[in-house]
Amino acid sequence: MNQLRRDLIFSLSLANLCFLRVWIALVDPSARYSLARPTRKEYVAVMLAVGILGAILFSGLALVRRAQRPLVWWLARCIFAVLLLLPLNAVRIVSLHLAMPTLVDRFGPWVLRGTVAALGLLCAVVIVRWSAAFARMAAIVVVVLSPLAPIVFATGMWRMLHLQPQSGYVGASPLTPQTGRPRVVWLLFDELDERLAFVERPAFLKLPELDRLRAEGLFAANAFPPSHRTVRSLPSLLTGKAVFEAKPSGDAELMITYHGSTQAVPWSVEPNVFARARREGLNTALVGWYIPYCRILKGDLTFCASHLVGSGGEAGGLGSLVLHDFRELVYWFPLGWRLRSAEDRARQRRMHLRMLDDASRAATDPALGLVFIHWCIPHAPFVYSTRDRWAMDGSGDYLGNLLLADRTLGELREAMERAGVWDSTTLLVSSDHGLRATAQDVVPLWGDARQIVDRPGIDPRVPFLVKLAGYKMPVTFNSPLSTVLSCDLVMAVLGGNIATPEDLRRWIDRNRRYEPGMPASAQTQGPIGRHP
Ligand SMILES: [Zn+2]
Repeated sequence: MNQLRRDLIFSLSLANLCFLRVWIALVDPSARYSLARPTRKEYVAVMLAVGILGAILFSGLALVRRAQRPLVWWLARCIFAVLLLLPLNAVRIVSLHLAMPTLVDRFGPWVLRGTVAALGLLCAVVIVRWSAAFARMAAIVVVVLSPLAPIVFATGMWRMLHLQPQSGYVGASPLTPQTGRPRVVWLLFDELDERLAFVERPAFLKLPELDRLRAEGLFAANAFPPSHRTVRSLPSLLTGKAVFEAKPSGDAELMITYHGSTQAVPWSVEPNVFARARREGLNTALVGWYIPYCRILKGDLTFCASHLVGSGGEAGGLGSLVLHDFRELVYWFPLGWRLRSAEDRARQRRMHLRMLDDASRAATDPALGLVFIHWCIPHAPFVYSTRDRWAMDGSGDYLGNLLLADRTLGELREAMERAGVWDSTTLLVSSDHGLRATAQDVVPLWGDARQIVDRPGIDPRVPFLVKLAGYKMPVTFNSPLSTVLSCDLVMAVLGGNIATPEDLRRWIDRNRRYEPGMPASAQTQGPIGRHP
């Protein structure tokens, strides 16, 4: 009986630890900052999954005890060792913040591969030579950690009974639209790279929409983003002040620290471009991904659509959610990554199409004075190929996504032309950062890490194009600027202070200043680097 009870506690605790990563996302709101809020079904699913895996482990252990064969015991210990990798992985990612891109960034793929191979070898030796001793010690740890199960179950139960509303967005009351007022559509393509889009674009890649904008408006050849991280760039751009540090606090707040300050402040109460536009009597709209905009900036937006990723199984019923939780376990092993990449691509494509829908609706609505769209492309996963088609089989690459960004721009332009608002709207197109070294949709550790494109170094610049309402005139602006000025620029256009291309050029020249995020050499005048 004692043995049975011990086996039961061990099995349930191990099952619970295997799902630690799923649990953390459900019980810690900060861990779900960039995710959709969980549904009641997701809590039930993980509880069921723990119960099912616990039952499987318990019966398996009983069979092993009955078999009494050394080989069976040895196999059981191997399975135990493999299962232990799951909670260890959860600790690595969630507690130590050592996600794979961070590790690759810090140590390079080969150091990492070597370390993993050495660790694997060490584990293999331990298991082969001292499997019984290892299993005994690890089993003690699992039993010692068993109180964790009732703690996360209770926390999960409490959270399930106190669910927050899905979007958290209430919406600011619509203001009466005024005809004849300037109107701005601000498009931010995530990870749109200046070098590959303009400076050293491969000859075969045609980006007619970006070229057209360049031929009809202002093109800043040396625009620097405030940060190479989305989570810092976006608040910088929207508040108009460079952000040095940004940390989620729960799932509906981002604590930001501006450069030159030591105090973190809640982003939700900081002045932003939308609040300023509303004070000017304009309706505002935002369509975005990755950041829970609607939960944070809700009071300043007449229309808001945050496209956040869910747990992945939210579309199906309870059964598919439980299955999804089990699949989550497979993701951690080499071949599981392929499954995950395929799912990520499918999800990105769905998200992009939904965003295009929302974006077209907002950009063509003349009642909205300021529309901001934070596109999820050309950021990985790479869902498009340079052959101008969806690439759900993994044959896409960054350049393909770049082509998709150009196509998207074209679709939005056509929609705005059909609605008769294209010529009367000022369009700003830019990015939160250029292409980063870690921008790969396959985890580099497991081999399949195609270089996106050969490149000698990273170019921090981002595209910065402004098509001024009513004008079709190319202006190239070569002096360095920080895109942090976008917020004030948008307000100057909305306030009627910039009407002609010359006004625009002069305004930018007067208001560009050295900002953190710009390389030191950017303080000097004149173009930096090669540019066609
Ligand atoms: Zn980004």
